[in-house]
Amino acid sequence: MIATFRVYLKRRAGRGVGDFFVVQFYRTKEQMRNAARIRVRADGLSAGSFAHTLGFCLWYTKLRRRKDRLVRQRECGTVYLCSVAGGAGVVAHEMTHAAYAWLCGRKGWRPRWKDKALDEDIAWTVGWLVTQYWREYWKRFAK
Ligand SMILES: [Zn+2]
Repeated sequence: MIATFRVYLKRRAGRGVGDFFVVQFYRTKEQMRNAARIRVRADGLSAGSFAHTLGFCLWYTKLRRRKDRLVRQRECGTVYLCSVAGGAGVVAHEMTHAAYAWLCGRKGWRPRWKDKALDEDIAWTVGWLVTQYWREYWKRFAK
C-alpha cells in the first residue's frame, strides 16, 4: 500500500465527526487485488474472482465494546484502488458503491437493498459518465 486516507460521506464531516470510508491505494493491480482478497477472506465473506478487478469497495459495520454495550464505529468500509487503474471512471465507480451502501445501510434508503444488479448498474453508469466528462474536458483544455 502506498497511501491510505479517509473519505467522508458528509461535507461537514472531518476528524472525529461523521461516517467515512478508508481508501487504500496500491501501486499495482496485483497488490490491490491481493489485499482485497485477503480482507474478504478474513471477514468470512465470499466474493468472486478478483482477476479483472480495477477497484473494490467493501462495506461493513465496525463495532467496539464500550462498557456493557456495542457501539458502532464511524468507519463503514474500505475502498481499494491502485495507481495504474485509478482513473476518474474507476474512482467514480467505487465511490458510487460506497455512497449506495452508506445510503442504504445508514440512511434508510430502501431501493432494493442488496440488489447487486442495481448497485452495479448505478456504479457503471456514474463511472462511464465521469470517464466521458474527463475525456471531453482534456480534449478541450489539455495543454
Ligand atoms: Zn462495481
